[in-house]
Amino acid sequence: MKKRLSFSSLKAFSDCEAEAVAVMAEEWDRQSTFSPSTIEAMNAGSYVHKYFESNKALEEFKLEHESDMFTKKGSLKSQFQIAEKMVQTLDKDPLFKTIYQGVKELEIFGKIQGIEFHGFLDCLNLERNIFIDIKTIRGSIRDKEWSETEYRRVSWIESRKYLWQMAIYQELLRQSDDEKIGKNIQPVIYAITKETFPDSSGITIPQEWLDDSLLEVQEASEKYIEVLNGREPKRCERCNYCKATKLNTHTISITELI
Ligand SMILES: [Zn+2]
Repeated sequence: MKKRLSFSSLKAFSDCEAEAVAVMAEEWDRQSTFSPSTIEAMNAGSYVHKYFESNKALEEFKLEHESDMFTKKGSLKSQFQIAEKMVQTLDKDPLFKTIYQGVKELEIFGKIQGIEFHGFLDCLNLERNIFIDIKTIRGSIRDKEWSETEYRRVSWIESRKYLWQMAIYQELLRQSDDEKIGKNIQPVIYAITKETFPDSSGITIPQEWLDDSLLEVQEASEKYIEVLNGREPKRCERCNYCKATKLNTHTISITELI
């Protein structure tokens, strides 16, 4: 198991401990379970990020992903046509253009509950005391999704645990010994949608929500430490890994399905 965590590895661990441990042990290739359209959508999301990182990053991305981006006839694949529209929308969004300034793709480090964490900031704007994270999303910015843990519909930002990500990054920045970096830098999630007419908004988060999220991150990290120290990882019995490795030994009651 990894000694150093990122937001995505902690999220994967909290979604299914057994799958995350198998991925870290290289016994399970999660990427290979993704459908071609999911991979195309992920690449298109990277394209949007690279476009606003630097010309160099964009050119490198295009070279590396030429076969992913274009059909055999040479036209842009559908997800990249959408990505191009998203880029154009952000490029004429006055708020985005004003605040998405500063250091791009900055790697940050620190410790939470004694475990090393690292992360990448899309953009750190020290003049405004904010960091910005671009999120490309399929639905509408106001979409809600069902949360299995909260038993209610919550915003996509909560259901995908992006509050954890923002709380982790804020904490890692707080731990930085760079004097230029303040102690209470605020996150801005810059959402851009894949709708026919892409929508964009910069979204701030109340500090109490970030504080609560950091507590949840600390609890999840404690669980990770338990498994590092030898506790058997829990199976979610819902993910592809659990389905692929399931060995039924008893029946379940219909009441468990409600
Ligand atoms: Zn599972």
